[in-house]
Amino acid sequence: MVGKSARQRRLVDEVEALYEWIDAQLGRDPVRAGRCAACGACCDFVTYDHLLFVTPPELIYLSDKLGTDGLKQMTSGRCPYQQASQCTVHAYRFAGCRIFCCRGEADFQSELTEAALRRLKAICERFEVPYRYADLATALTCFVTSSDRSAAGPCPGDRRG
Ligand code: SF4
Ligand code: SF4
Repeated sequence: MVGKSARQRRLVDEVEALYEWIDAQLGRDPVRAGRCAACGACCDFVTYDHLLFVTPPELIYLSDKLGTDGLKQMTSGRCPYQQASQCTVHAYRFAGCRIFCCRGEADFQSELTEAALRRLKAICERFEVPYRYADLATALTCFVTSSDRSAAGPCPGDRRG
């Protein structure tokens, strides 16, 4: 379990290193990665018909950077971190936000996503955080912060079976 501890700091450092790795992969092949115009359209998930999936380590990372009060629930079809078409958490945005580009190659994005998820799964195993790959609305609803237990609480569906 991960509390506000040196262990959590290591987890946060590992997610940060992963994001740096993703950014480096994108920078190595900008043509296949695609050039994002930062229009913000894909952050309005319902209108754009897009889903953003995230994992617990990414939410732990974001919570660490923003503080518990900084985490928001989705109250509409739009990402709660978007304001006036701008990402308010750009430096801390999720792996999916970094990798997806409407102007990039789907195969490239798919391969990079799989590689990133393998690393996120490994982080979960190392830090005993339940791995889950959930859409942002569900993930934010299920995310529970606590000082002495896992920062990623189980979703109701995790208890089935
Ligand atoms: S975190 Fe930022 S980039 Fe990602 S969906 Fe939300 S507003 Fe868009
Ligand atoms: S990926 Fe495309 S839709 Fe999304 S912000 Fe960039 S240019 Fe706009």
